[in-house]
Amino acid sequence: MTRPNTEGLPQKVLEAITQVVGHTSAALHEPSFGVNEVRYLTECISSTYVSYIGDYVKKFEKELQEFTGAQHIIPTTNGTSALHLALICGGVRANDEVLTPSLTFIATANAVTYCNAYPHLIDTDLNSLGVDIEKLHDYLREFTKQESGLCVNKKTGRVIRAIIPVHLFGHIAEMNDLLELARDYKIAVIEDAAEALGSFHKGKHAGTIGLLGALSFNGNKIITTGGGGALMTNDNKLAILARHLSTTAKLPHKWEFHHNLVGFNYRMPNLNAAVGCAQLEELPKKISQKRTLFKKYREAFALVNGVEVFQEPENSMSNYWLQTLILDESQRKWKDAILELTNLNLINTRPAWEPLHLQAPYADSESMNLENANSLKGRIINMPSSPKLADE
Ligand SMILES: *Cc1c(COP(=O)(O)O)cnc(C)c1O
Repeated sequence: MTRPNTEGLPQKVLEAITQVVGHTSAALHEPSFGVNEVRYLTECISSTYVSYIGDYVKKFEKELQEFTGAQHIIPTTNGTSALHLALICGGVRANDEVLTPSLTFIATANAVTYCNAYPHLIDTDLNSLGVDIEKLHDYLREFTKQESGLCVNKKTGRVIRAIIPVHLFGHIAEMNDLLELARDYKIAVIEDAAEALGSFHKGKHAGTIGLLGALSFNGNKIITTGGGGALMTNDNKLAILARHLSTTAKLPHKWEFHHNLVGFNYRMPNLNAAVGCAQLEELPKKISQKRTLFKKYREAFALVNGVEVFQEPENSMSNYWLQTLILDESQRKWKDAILELTNLNLINTRPAWEPLHLQAPYADSESMNLENANSLKGRIINMPSSPKLADE
């Protein structure tokens, strides 16, 4: 009997992961805390400044600015609110369309919907997991027209106002071509950098390459503030607007309440920022642990045929937020068996999100053909990625 050399692939994947994580149980991604989280929280509570006015918010803002090189950081309640605010400041209005990858977490598209705008779904590049730029170029050329300096969808007549590249699993794909294409077509670039704190592309931090960007500090991200996020931009005017809108658009006055716009209550509370300040102290270590973990996975899988541990794209330095296994097209039949066997053995793996065009709220969205997203959805498996696993 002849057997393909990938027979028993699930068992080989389980063995390779176990070899890396060193024991027989591992979560997909666990937060970790040192001693300063409790210290800063205690100080914060003693100060009574627990909401968005306080020293920890300012400190967190300043330290994030220094680490990322962003001119402006506006800490927010979560990554989704940062993205919502970024879209508004980037000019997205009711009835606009925003180019959004179908292969992303649903929050990317939800932020567009909160603007009463429409996500227009685009495809993912098979090699970089970023926007398929060549495909997008052809698509824009055929299906849009320029009208008084705006990009208009010929079919719907709506303005395509912005594009949201998502730095999937922490990886930044080629950005210069994307920026150039967006400039040519008069489309604003707003980065969903929720997963990419600590990732750089040609020396620029994720979220500072386009007009605006959004970070997340949810419990499963590389550092956490419980819930939290940040808007990033190098544009002074947009930063002033974002700050203003994030705090109910209140005009400064010692006691009077005057608001000149419909704003939001999106500022990060001081309590969360206190945790964030402690977490930031550990960020460089976590990045280096995650990069080490990648090397270990890469080694462990070197002799396993039919799968590849995803490596950071060229010109990028990735935080490797989630370690990612990609099955060859010919091996997609093993995906469910791999997920089943690993999870049965308390190794927490999971598939990529269901693409947005297959999710109820976005099934009727405008879209290009999404064959790459469809192909990848059956081939991506995220593996245990907690920084501490590098030390096993
Ligand atoms: C986590 C995440 C978000 C949302 O961040 P929250 O802080 O959970 O609101 C948005 N986009 C992507 C790609 C994410 O991974």
